[in-house]
Amino acid sequence: MSAVQIKGQGRAFTLSIDGRDLRTMQGTYDQAITMAHKLETAARRKRRPCLGCKTSFTSTGHHHRFCRFCRAEMRAMG
Ligand SMILES: [Zn+2]
Repeated sequence: MSAVQIKGQGRAFTLSIDGRDLRTMQGTYDQAITMAHKLETAARRKRRPCLGCKTSFTSTGHHHRFCRFCRAEMRAMG
């Protein structure tokens, strides 16, 4: 799995993933870490086919395999 790297020091950081620079930012190292986590979450999002209706949807991770319509339907059925 890809992880975001934080490069830089002081108050300017570059966040990169797989050796590719994603963005540079000004701020504290703590803020850089928070941004790295956000970018990691975004990088994990993928288009996947829904296991219910086969429509492709944006999945946020391995646990997320049904589109929102199927999830709503499952919730309605209990
Ligand atoms: Zn579905």
